[in-house]
Amino acid sequence: MNDIGHKDPLLVVASGNRGKLREISDLLSPLGWAVRPQGDWGIPEAVENGLSFIENALIKARHASRLTGHAALADDSGLSVDALEGAPGIYSARYADDQGDEANNLKLLEALQGIPDEKRGAHFYCAMALVRHEEDPAPLVAIGRWDGKITHRPSGGGGFGYDPLFLIDGRDCTSAELPTAEKNRLSHRGQALRDMVRMMRDELSD
Ligand code: IMP
Repeated sequence: MNDIGHKDPLLVVASGNRGKLREISDLLSPLGWAVRPQGDWGIPEAVENGLSFIENALIKARHASRLTGHAALADDSGLSVDALEGAPGIYSARYADDQGDEANNLKLLEALQGIPDEKRGAHFYCAMALVRHEEDPAPLVAIGRWDGKITHRPSGGGGFGYDPLFLIDGRDCTSAELPTAEKNRLSHRGQALRDMVRMMRDELSD
């Protein structure tokens, strides 16, 4: 089955996050894609047992496609800290078990205690994968990377997750201090999404 390339193609997005869905829908709707969350099918979450952002994005996209019978798009993202050999990485959401963003941030600051500024480099990654059907051997994959440093204390009230600790390279502020539109323009997710839309336009349109 291949929805893409047909009139009014349907794309299932393997995410329940409203902000993400709106952003994806805003970019794809003008191109004629109908975007619907996998929640509309009431399917369970995928088991994310890959070792990388790319593997997990693909697992989620194939899972959504298998259970809905439509083309599916998924993303996986997280923070990778140089001094911690890439941790928290794919475990970013649950770094401090399931205690939430504040606990994750506290754990990260503790892990970096005594590490000097020049060794506090960090990168947000976002992998995005689109499969035309569940066994698609040539998925579209886009990767975005955003470079920065981990601060010594949280700053800023915007964004989510590790944003209050992520000091953006070349800017004197954290990603939690950016207006939403500016963050979307610069971020790993914004980069990956724009790249994915470009590929979809080039490779999947009639
Ligand atoms: P997910 O891919 O949306 O599940 O994100 C995984 C986790 O990575 C989130 O729960 C956050 O902890 C972290 N993360 C991903 N993107 C961002 C971001 O843009 N800002 C802050 N934290 C992020």
